[in-house]
Amino acid sequence: IEVDDFDLVVFGGTGDLAHRKLLPALYHRDLDGQLPAGARIIVTSRREFTHDEYQAWAEGALGEHVKDLEPAAVKRFLARLTYIAIDVAAEAGWADLGKILNARPNVIRAFYLAVAPDFFGTICDGIGRHNLVTSKTRVVIEKPIGKDGKSAQALNETIGKVFKEHQIFRIDHYLGKETVQNLMALRFANALFEPLWNAAHIDHVQITVAESLGVGGRAGYYDTAGALRDMVQNHILQLLCLVAMEPPESMNADSVRDEKLKVLKALAPITPELAEKHIVRGQYKAGASDGGAVPGYLDELGRDDSLTETFVAIKAQIANWRWAGVPFYLRTGKRLATRVSEIVVQFRPIPHSIFGPEAGVISANRLIIRLQPDEGVKMQVMIKDPGPGGMRLRQVPLDMSFADAFKVRNPDAYERLIMDVIRGNQTLFMRRDEVDAAWAWVDPILEIWAAAKDQPKAYTSGTWGPSASIALIERDGRTWAEDG
Ligand code: NAD
Repeated sequence: IEVDDFDLVVFGGTGDLAHRKLLPALYHRDLDGQLPAGARIIVTSRREFTHDEYQAWAEGALGEHVKDLEPAAVKRFLARLTYIAIDVAAEAGWADLGKILNARPNVIRAFYLAVAPDFFGTICDGIGRHNLVTSKTRVVIEKPIGKDGKSAQALNETIGKVFKEHQIFRIDHYLGKETVQNLMALRFANALFEPLWNAAHIDHVQITVAESLGVGGRAGYYDTAGALRDMVQNHILQLLCLVAMEPPESMNADSVRDEKLKVLKALAPITPELAEKHIVRGQYKAGASDGGAVPGYLDELGRDDSLTETFVAIKAQIANWRWAGVPFYLRTGKRLATRVSEIVVQFRPIPHSIFGPEAGVISANRLIIRLQPDEGVKMQVMIKDPGPGGMRLRQVPLDMSFADAFKVRNPDAYERLIMDVIRGNQTLFMRRDEVDAAWAWVDPILEIWAAAKDQPKAYTSGTWGPSASIALIERDGRTWAEDG
């Protein structure tokens, strides 16, 4: 469905995010006919590109990140792009931007801040000073939103001086993934799951976001963040919310976000004693990954005194009626054995087996929601092994791989999210109080680590993290689901 005419202004239009994600996403939306003739994309950055130079850069981005480019569509898309050099910390360029935008004061206007968060304040200030905010204006900001609760609040205050909360779109691109939205469809469009979706029937939940790559060229930034801030505070807690929330009244943005907020507030606080028992931090050392030798984190960073974690595993608890006693095991890390993001909902075992020992092991049901790679949903069930060999049981997946089920391209999260910004739909964006509540749970953990000068446990690249993280779940008589 076509959206209304809009002007999208991308700050940081020559950055990595624009190159890999934003331009390809916008191209795809245009290709699918979703962009109206009056959709303009105004790209800015500090670089002094001429019009032609930027067109070539953008074409290069599409060439690199889009399969099967259609020349006519590329031409139409490039014609939508206008480049303006603005050093956001200075004055030059703003007037040009104003002139372009003010030619169409009544169309939807979205500012996408694809720049380092240090610039958010300066850019919002510039937008405000040049009177570029109309009633149809919105602003999109990327992670990280702060490095702790206090800095997140300061950032939100700064943005809040120019934009109202309903104009602010805080992107967590995990929420734009098809499978993540499918989690809501699965839970709330099927009668099957919801009656079982509680402590009486679910044994535990695992959320894994494993990367096989290391920090590479981003070591400098990463060292100021670490896995807890980079992945848990935002993406993993958002996934946890979608698994654990009560059914919202509707898909209305505030209904969904109210329910997510309740989950965040119900997370049992981590005390120093719990941190000791329920959290494992790790840092990768040299090893083998993707078949080749790779250096350790400290080598990549070029320092040997960093205490930053590149892995964290946490046993979290949600203190409410639905989830009392159901652990949520969360883990994420770099240079792990494979790249996989998935949510595993482990149901309780059957209460009693009518089958004899010859039937074999009866595994409890497991629902696996895989975000990447190969997005899909799988339900592990027990069946009888086919054939006349007696009642032998076997676990098989009821499998819905999206690639197989739908012969259409799986859209990137950014495609959905950018269009939601234009439509003004905030359901898949984080509200300010959610960000605050997530930090309120994460901050004490950071403080405990800082106070203890906690040394991350070393793990070999290409493995599943420190052995202590395996012990963390095995102590409870459970195991990480490594095979999907
Ligand atoms: P980048 O360093 O590749 O690009 C930064 C952009 O900002 C460039 O276009 C640069 O020209 C511009 N810029 C820098 N200083 C400027 C100034 N004074 N005036 C005007 N423009 C200036 O960064 P990136 O990787 O594209 O990331 C952008 C934002 O998106 C960051 O907040 C980052 O945390 C976030 N983010 C990036 C990714 C990703 O995959 N790259 C993923 C999630 C979030």
